Amino acid sequence: MADYKFKLKFYGVRGSYPVASKAGTEIGGNTACVLARTPENIVILDAGSGVINLGKELVPEILQHQKRNDTPFHITFIFNHTHSDHILGLPFFAPLYMPNVFIHFFGPATLGKSFEEVLRTLVMPQFYPVAMDEFRSTKEFHDMTENDVIYFTKDRPAPKVAHVMEKLPLDRSLSIHLMKYYFHPKDGSYPMRIEYKDKKIVYATDVEQYIGGDQRLIKFSQNADILIHDAQYTEEQYKMFAGYGHSTFVSACDAASQAKAQKLILFHHNPAHSDADLRAIEKKARALFPNCELAVEGWEWKV
Ligand SMILES: [Zn+2]
Ligand SMILES: [Zn+2]
Repeated sequence: MADYKFKLKFYGVRGSYPVASKAGTEIGGNTACVLARTPENIVILDAGSGVINLGKELVPEILQHQKRNDTPFHITFIFNHTHSDHILGLPFFAPLYMPNVFIHFFGPATLGKSFEEVLRTLVMPQFYPVAMDEFRSTKEFHDMTENDVIYFTKDRPAPKVAHVMEKLPLDRSLSIHLMKYYFHPKDGSYPMRIEYKDKKIVYATDVEQYIGGDQRLIKFSQNADILIHDAQYTEEQYKMFAGYGHSTFVSACDAASQAKAQKLILFHHNPAHSDADLRAIEKKARALFPNCELAVEGWEWKV
């Protein structure tokens, strides 16, 4: 029996590229990957290099499932966008290679190419030895838009999609709302709001806050229990990187205050920052928004 009804866990917390420093890192060196799950429904937000460890963890659970059931084991991926730091771990995600695993991929079409078309380029023979159709799992690809709500019901491990104006069924377990964020090069990103009963978690990575706070995102994040927010830069660095699609920890704190979030988690850490740099940022951020901490690999939150 699982010791949770809902669980959130970080497997990758860096932006841009993975870090393997000689000194090691207690914060974590893998790129974006977050698990949001109930015992029945597994949702993975982004497949940065962190997804490799998550895949290894899921293998025993999948084998157990397969011993007891003929039905496939369902896993749902939702991609914030398809920049390499959000997809690079996928070819090394062990369940992809397993028969009787059903993987549902949701992501945005980008610059006129469908999400499926974009994701398939990741494993083109020029880049990777195994092609998408050679993985033994079953795969389904969905282009998503901000009009979609992805949701689950307790009795059904596969996701369903509703229009945002539709009333969701009362027996839903998890639901994920999407928002298109325009200020991330070159075709935006998709902040997500995960809802489990009365709990709300917002995953807003790869967003660059507008001056004064992006009011659409602030409304989307209103009263979140946890706001996971891009905080790649210091104010000093931002002067050089304005327009690159990422926020400062100061603007992340401002967004959390305006959204009246319970807790702020700084995410998409700059790969150039050492643990000490990041802890210094955390300290400064706490002066602005006290209930704030760095995203750390392995951190989890259970309900
Ligand atoms: Zn990123
Ligand atoms: Zn990006």
